[in-house]
Amino acid sequence: MRRVLVWLRGDLRLADNPLLRFASPAESLLCVYVLDDAWLEDRAGLGPRIGAARLRFLWESLIALRGELLGRGSDLLVRVGDPLEEVAGLVDRHAFDQVRVRRDAGWEESGAVARLAERLGPGVELWQPDAGLLLDEGELPLPLDALPPSFSAFRRRVEPAATLPASWPAPVTLPPWPEGAPRGLPALHRVSPVAADWTADARGGFRFAGGEAEGLARLDHYLWQGGAVASYKQTRNALMGADFSTRLAPWLAHGCLSPRQVHDAVRAWEATHGANDSSEWVIVELLWRDYFHWAARQEGAALYGRRRLPPADDAFRRWCRGRTGVPLIDAAMTELAATGWLSNRARQNAASFLVFELGGDWRLGAAWFERCLIDYDAASNWGNWRYVAGVGRDRRGHRFDIPWQARRYDPEGDYVARWQPALATLPVAQRHQPWCADVERFPPPPGSKVPPADP
Ligand SMILES: Cc1cc2nc3c(=O)[nH]c(=O)nc-3n(C[C@H](O)[C@H](O)[C@H](O)COP(=O)(O)OP(=O)(O)OC[C@H]3O[C@@H](n4cnc5c(N)ncnc54)[C@H](O)[C@@H]3O)c2cc1C
Repeated sequence: MRRVLVWLRGDLRLADNPLLRFASPAESLLCVYVLDDAWLEDRAGLGPRIGAARLRFLWESLIALRGELLGRGSDLLVRVGDPLEEVAGLVDRHAFDQVRVRRDAGWEESGAVARLAERLGPGVELWQPDAGLLLDEGELPLPLDALPPSFSAFRRRVEPAATLPASWPAPVTLPPWPEGAPRGLPALHRVSPVAADWTADARGGFRFAGGEAEGLARLDHYLWQGGAVASYKQTRNALMGADFSTRLAPWLAHGCLSPRQVHDAVRAWEATHGANDSSEWVIVELLWRDYFHWAARQEGAALYGRRRLPPADDAFRRWCRGRTGVPLIDAAMTELAATGWLSNRARQNAASFLVFELGGDWRLGAAWFERCLIDYDAASNWGNWRYVAGVGRDRRGHRFDIPWQARRYDPEGDYVARWQPALATLPVAQRHQPWCADVERFPPPPGSKVPPADP
């Protein structure tokens, strides 16, 4: 019987997780998650790669997963360090003969697995299934190197041809923990006191709590309790409110939920209520997520741009802090820093503004989002940034007309007033009056001062 080590990376769930599926009994199973300590270090003066909001959500997810594993006769080990060294050390010390880790789109992640493969002895099998996508690579109706440059073309190829496998239920029991192997996770305040104390700003009107049960509860709410899915296509571009979009991204990004679970739940809802454009559009968005994943796998290191990150200049710092002087952008950047989340519309506006109005480097913007977002996912984040900036496979670029966006999506100025209380005292007509020290199109009104980068 096999002795199995499961290296968890973004699969923090029991249901629909191929890594935790056993066709035949195994002698023992050790599940390990390693927080890369490099993520806690400063990058290019932007702070740690994993910010407090995401780290807290991650820890909540790990604690919840440990509870679920314990209930099934297993356990969880969480380490902070170099993932490759930690996993290789465990394999050496506890004589595993199979290592399971999902295939990953991230360049660093796939590089670490390639180096692990070189380190493992001849008797150790490395098993790398696809996980956390609608379709596995083998189910795609086209080879990866024929991936179309646009999502629309990808969708046209995939939708008619694809048969989606159903998601699996969680296992009821799991192989026992290897004798003498370490277990448990460090308390979050030992890893990051800032993350342990972090709470989302109440103005966001939503609290994301990590873990599989929380993800399933949100899915249940969005489909069956509130029924918001019935109008998703009409509401998904809104800026404020708890239910204008699914808000499932954090659970999907950490693997507390799989997209197939979401797909199956939406189809179950449709079987009762009837399919409509909105329910269908949730599935289309999940396909976007798959598309960015495949594009990232194909692009490798090029996904992140080829050169080193440039230094952050003053205009970029003002953008990060929500001090550009353009209310719609400043509200978005304040919300992002205060809650760890942002609507898709606000992400697009903020990204477009940095790239096309400030002339900023898209990679710095992506790095800042990586730090702030709870739902950070390498392929989706860097892929969307490339898409807006018009670099990589789709070179069109997507420049958003910010004054038009303000009129269309925040006509009463409620959004900007929520995140910049001083604006609430102004008449509606003046709330969006932009001024910007860095952009000619948004000149400061006479007599106004340039806001400081760091308040
Ligand atoms: C500059 C920029 C950076 C982004 N960074 C990330 C990121 O790091 N992680 C992330 O998950 N999404 C990212 N997105 C995509 C999108 O904004 C979020 O997935 C979405 O806003 C999350 O909210 P939701 O769960 O309510 O999405 P919904 O609108 O309810 O969509 C349902 C699900 O579909 C997927 N999805 C929707 N839109 C996209 C998209 N454009 N690309 C990929 N997947 C999508 C997500 O998994 C989402 O949870 C980014 C978009 C932009 C413009």
